[in-house]
Amino acid sequence: MVHQGCKVLVVCGPSGSGKSTLLKRLFDEYPNTFGFSVSHTTRNPRPGEQNGYHYHFTTKEEMEIAIGRGEFLESAIFANNIYGTSFAAIQAVCNEGKVCVLDIDVQGVKQVKKKNLDSIYIFIKPPSMDELEKRLRLRATETEESLQSRLEAAKQDMTYGETPGNFNLVLVNDSLEKAYPKFKEFIFQELEKSKLSNGHFFIKQSSNN
Ligand code: ADP
Ligand code: 5GP
Repeated sequence: MVHQGCKVLVVCGPSGSGKSTLLKRLFDEYPNTFGFSVSHTTRNPRPGEQNGYHYHFTTKEEMEIAIGRGEFLESAIFANNIYGTSFAAIQAVCNEGKVCVLDIDVQGVKQVKKKNLDSIYIFIKPPSMDELEKRLRLRATETEESLQSRLEAAKQDMTYGETPGNFNLVLVNDSLEKAYPKFKEFIFQELEKSKLSNGHFFIKQSSNN
């Protein structure tokens, strides 16, 4: 069960488009406003990634059982691994009174849209497919197989991302100095619309709700 009163920010976009980079800036600048929904994944941790902070790293077997038990709001197979947002991950952020940020793929977005959540949807777009590939290669986190599967997914996700009505904002991440202010301003503009008279973005509820 997810807080009905919780504000959710969904950030989507091809792998390598710059979601984590933009979100890191947002969390660093507004640590008390935004909280990250820590997803589960069956992929291996990258150097520097911490279990429970960047992801809950788990096995395919454990994840399938947990999904079967109904513990996930959404889940998807991406580049041969399972990813998913647990209800508990969202609950943890909402309990802190923060806007809950989901970094999920298009399959996840489609599932979240069917749930009754108060969400803002942002699609982060690379300047071009060539630039996306360049950035992914420079990041040097993927095997050639994983990289190719990410580029393949990116082509399909771009079509969904660019279709009018699917996202509240489609943001081209050309340079960070241009993209980050636009990202931040749009988010606060949207949050302002739903701000309550007490200055909060949503009604904080007790954790047993
Ligand atoms: P995602 O989270 O969408 O997979 P990342 O945030 O990891 O993407 O970004 C992919 C790579 O591109 C990283 O190495 C990051 O440093 C780099 N990057 C992000 N934004 C830009 C930008 N505006 N210009 C150049 N490189 C960027
Ligand atoms: P990465 O392996 O690069 O961290 O993530 C790969 C893709 O999986 C990204 O597009 C990211 O947004 C997506 N992703 C991360 N967590 C989740 C999740 O919980 N659910 C879904 N559907 N996608 C996720």
